[in-house]
Amino acid sequence: MKQDGPLSHMIRQLSVLPGLGPRSARRAALTLISKKDDMMMPLIRALSEAAEQIVTCPVCGALDDTSPCRICSDPSRDQGLICVVATLTDLWAIERAGGFRGVYHVLGGVLSALDGIGPDNLSLDDLKTRVAENVPREVILALPATVDGQSTAHVVMDILGAHDIKVTRLAHGMPIGGELDYLDDGTILTAFQARG
Ligand SMILES: [Zn+2]
Repeated sequence: MKQDGPLSHMIRQLSVLPGLGPRSARRAALTLISKKDDMMMPLIRALSEAAEQIVTCPVCGALDDTSPCRICSDPSRDQGLICVVATLTDLWAIERAGGFRGVYHVLGGVLSALDGIGPDNLSLDDLKTRVAENVPREVILALPATVDGQSTAHVVMDILGAHDIKVTRLAHGMPIGGELDYLDDGTILTAFQARG
């Protein structure tokens, strides 16, 4: 294989995706090329469509093709109830579970000295402005039960402490270090109902 040819270029691009190392990237590349019409062309179209149309919601930080996102602009959602999540995959997991009728704030990760993620890398300032402009009744912290997740939760609580807001956390019993994305819908629902 030519090291600077299109095939190795494609494999290099694929191998930086989360969950794909060089070996899986090679396999994915071969599959895509051998199924050019059925897989590769639809994927190219989906990627280019997403790149053109998907925007970050200025209110909550979620991704959608409308701005503000569908959740923020849904009049039936309770704007006084904000669930703070680390990532969009956590938001999706909660939405999949159903039952939550509030809105979200996506931080974009958790603080991590190891990964060099500091307060400026997260949407903490946006949260500060958001709650100051429109004080919610309750904020639910749905952050990972890891050390990093909990130190992030403390920073969020400091921000919220300036206002009279009820702050709750998802019930314990969630696996340590377990991200919401890996939990089944029933567990997520129970964690919401038993928050405190
Ligand atoms: Zn939004």
